[in-house]
Amino acid sequence: MPYEKEFATGESLWRLTTSDSVRDFEGAIRYGGPEEAVEPPVALTPPRGQDAISRIIVIDGSTVASPVRIGYPGAEAALLNLAAVVIDLQALKDIPPGSIPRPSTMRDIEDCRTLDAVLPGRNVVREDVADDTPERFFRYSVHQALAGRRVDDEHETLIETMRAITPSRRFPCPMDDCSNTIPALEGIGECACERCEQIFETDSLRLHERFEDFGSSAQAYTAMRQVVEHLAMVNIMRFFERRGWWSAFGTTAFVMDGPLAIFGMPAWLKLHVQNEVARLHAQALARGGPGVLLFGVEKSGMFLEHLKALDQSDYEGPRARLESGLALAPDRAYTHRHIALRPQEAKAHGVETDYGRRVLYKNRLGQHAVVMTPIVNTEGESRDCVGVAAYPRLGEALDIMDEFSTYLYEDGFAPLVRAHAHAAIPLKAGIGLLAELFEE
Ligand SMILES: [Zn+2]
Repeated sequence: MPYEKEFATGESLWRLTTSDSVRDFEGAIRYGGPEEAVEPPVALTPPRGQDAISRIIVIDGSTVASPVRIGYPGAEAALLNLAAVVIDLQALKDIPPGSIPRPSTMRDIEDCRTLDAVLPGRNVVREDVADDTPERFFRYSVHQALAGRRVDDEHETLIETMRAITPSRRFPCPMDDCSNTIPALEGIGECACERCEQIFETDSLRLHERFEDFGSSAQAYTAMRQVVEHLAMVNIMRFFERRGWWSAFGTTAFVMDGPLAIFGMPAWLKLHVQNEVARLHAQALARGGPGVLLFGVEKSGMFLEHLKALDQSDYEGPRARLESGLALAPDRAYTHRHIALRPQEAKAHGVETDYGRRVLYKNRLGQHAVVMTPIVNTEGESRDCVGVAAYPRLGEALDIMDEFSTYLYEDGFAPLVRAHAHAAIPLKAGIGLLAELFEE
């Protein structure tokens, strides 16, 4: 009965009160899964121990919103950071197991470059723009951030990446009182109605729809962070392609801090990211390599909670029921029945937002993680399919999750933790990081 434990905290809280409304509420809510003990999902056994990976590139963004002192009361702005951390895996392996590396050692191993941008919020306008509004300033800033940022001097900007993977896409005019659709444009354009103001190419991301004139625009900042993270990952992969570094795809792991998913207003972008990763994977395969190794690590959420519940034993407590090294693949039916609590026939969970498939993993030290590999083929696209083919290079992703367990925090992932440590360091954009590292 793993589910009893899953809700134990909530239940003990409820018992503090005995009101009728609490009883009514308890009677009405749905608990996860059936009464009998849940059988875990299908176990996957991909090939392990291939040992081909020499570098990991971790992509990790962050946004910090804060009040702005100068300006109107309640003025807000957010600092967006993007870290692309390149980790030399061999150097990390050379550190004796069990010893926590000193910060200086870690600095030698990681080559960290970050991009940063300020995103304005409510009550902030530009002095030199007549009749400026905070929302217009926000839209301008989004455009500038994506147009001016590149991970390498000799490579495309993030906006060029977006343009390349979303050809001829139309989008709604950003003005509230206009129902026009704008054809795909490059840079800055105009709406057909001729009374609307400047339209930015990046208005197609629709981030401004979560801009708040009276509250915090935290949702818009978070959406922007996701867009930048996923575009940066694709941007770096396209740089590999441009340079013809097909063998580097075989030896490099791309790791996203978080799910392979784009939520909210820019969720439409996920299909294009998915198609682009699938295209690069196919290209890499066609050149005789093993394809693209990309995975996301989810550090919270209902899938991780479910794994913890599955691993809970009534008699022996947490982390006692499943074998270490077990990788479980929930299919659509299982996800709906036990995790997302949806009708069986409902549209697959995550189909609008996820470009990857989730695997619940208990690593060799018994730590829990949710790993997502990208959807690159029809097996991956079918949420009913839980064959190994649906999870490209999963064995290597799991090996990396194991390899780093020496440096793991509680179910954390060392490179991701390090990326967070670096995320606050703003560096100038456009340093030739990748060319330096990969020209061998
Ligand atoms: Zn318009």
